[in-house]
Amino acid sequence: MKIEMLNVGWVTGSAAIWRRDEDPEKQLRFPVPAYVIETETERILVDTGLHPGACADPSAFYGGPAMSLFSFELDQPVHEQVDPATIDRIVITHLHYDHVGGLSLLPSSIPIVVQRREWEAGGDTGAIERNFFYPRDYVNDEREVILVDGDHDLLGDGSVELLLTPGHTPGHQSVRIGEDLVLGIDVTHFASGLDDHRLPAFADDHAEQRRSAERLRALRDGGARVIPGHDPDVLRPGPVTV
Ligand SMILES: [Zn+2]
Repeated sequence: MKIEMLNVGWVTGSAAIWRRDEDPEKQLRFPVPAYVIETETERILVDTGLHPGACADPSAFYGGPAMSLFSFELDQPVHEQVDPATIDRIVITHLHYDHVGGLSLLPSSIPIVVQRREWEAGGDTGAIERNFFYPRDYVNDEREVILVDGDHDLLGDGSVELLLTPGHTPGHQSVRIGEDLVLGIDVTHFASGLDDHRLPAFADDHAEQRRSAERLRALRDGGARVIPGHDPDVLRPGPVTV
């Protein structure tokens, strides 16, 4: 099993949005990763990063004022970093623009795997507004959507397990690979969040997110490496080692 981190781009915004008790005047710039998991039999893409159009002009691409709070930089879009013809399926961890934004760049023959709770929230007006989802990222997309409910053995052999870790969004999922590695994604943006719970100012459910952080902390304390979602001090493009 090989795991590689791709860096699609960067987001910059007020630090206080991303970590509680930060100085709102301070700007924080963090990486936007995607991952490729290569098993004996298939290649799985985890998340799709930012869309180049969103990086060029976020407000125009998505509409609405919220995006004016951020600036985006593109390193390289996901479909230029992997050969899409080699990807068998795409795991979407959640429907935020920095995870699903690049989906439309990938052939519609590749199915996505997403938690049912997340997908249903992505079709609910109140949940869309509360969670800053942008439906243009994932609607009108002809591909097959494979919905899962809770923890899910992705390949049927226990090697890759999707973990339902809600709170950041209604059906956020993390990815456990073997016994020793967990892509925690946005349960915590920063590695320290597992311990200090200085989580983002926004969430679908803050209490549920803290419980998910506790779950990942227990896996870490049990010996697994838990990779946070956007920690510039931790994330490095290239092979991911335990
Ligand atoms: Zn994110």
